[in-house]
Amino acid sequence: MGRLVREVVELGDLVKEAIKYRSRRALAKLLTIIEDNPEVLRPYYRELFGSVPKSRLVGITGPPGVGKSSLINRLIKELRSRGYSVAVVAVDPASPLSGGSLLGDRVRVRELDEGVFFRSMSTPPNEDIPWKVILATELLNSAGFDYVILEHPGSGQTNVRVSDLVDLLLVVMQPLTGDDIQLIKAGVTEVGDVYVINKADLPQASFFFRVAESLIGGVGRDGIKPRIVLTSALNGTGIPELINVINELFSEMGSSGVLSRRRFRRRVIEVYCLGLTYVKLLYDEVFSSVKDSSTMKGVISGDVDVLSASEYVFRELVRRIKSLGNEVIGN
Ligand code: GDP
Repeated sequence: MGRLVREVVELGDLVKEAIKYRSRRALAKLLTIIEDNPEVLRPYYRELFGSVPKSRLVGITGPPGVGKSSLINRLIKELRSRGYSVAVVAVDPASPLSGGSLLGDRVRVRELDEGVFFRSMSTPPNEDIPWKVILATELLNSAGFDYVILEHPGSGQTNVRVSDLVDLLLVVMQPLTGDDIQLIKAGVTEVGDVYVINKADLPQASFFFRVAESLIGGVGRDGIKPRIVLTSALNGTGIPELINVINELFSEMGSSGVLSRRRFRRRVIEVYCLGLTYVKLLYDEVFSSVKDSSTMKGVISGDVDVLSASEYVFRELVRRIKSLGNEVIGN
């Protein structure tokens, strides 16, 4: 068997093992492939995106240091004790600080059982949710975890993108400084479904909770009334209540139709992103084919300006697209 054929067969087996048997070894390998070169998995996208979303996809966002990782550890343990399986994707912007704390958590999570899967993925700071993170969450959804938690340190626009992707968004805050109150006022409160005031063990916590209650209220996204929950990831208070609130919201969203609307919205984002990958593939191919053209040589010698050259590349791209007809790229 040739190397290429063998690799394809092995990849097919990996996908099957991951999706059908939820093999942690297969999931880990596939996630590494997704991080390195997701294009390799293109022939299996139908399996990855085929099923109706089943996992409860919960986003957890909030500034570094509020206790997201600690909270996730607690949530995992509580969800496991109720018999649920949990997978976590922690999106770690390439920062050495949060990289360190996540690494510590990974070790702790590894001690847990077969019903738990944890993976951190690094992305450039402030990047919107990238395609590889979408692929990772869909793989874990197809593998049938009851809960898939997507941790993302939110900042500005990025928050909004996380909220577009997940079924339910938890925004984590801490009662330390007046900055947090400013944060609430600044509109973070428009995206969350559940506001988690963590570090309830700190003396300022109940004051902060009351302030949050007075500022967050009314109707949030998709007509859902935002909930506020006080927790301490340090001593575990409020964690069972937080899970009850999450589960209540899921059944509320299920019966009101919000859940399926959000999941269709996620599919639309996926169509957009996958469509873009086709364009990028073609663009890269066209770009490398014109690298040695006289236009590009002209750019190097200074005879052709950047705008004219980019228009030339774009015209070549259009020509290439026309020549494709109905052919599908990458299959
Ligand atoms: P992340 O950056 O949001 O993931 O936050 P971490 O989970 O890494 O926590 C940041 C710091 O806050 C660590 O030193 C934790 O031990 C601490 N921490 C987390 N949760 C609590 C809590 O409920 N109470 C207190 N007092 N400290 C906490």
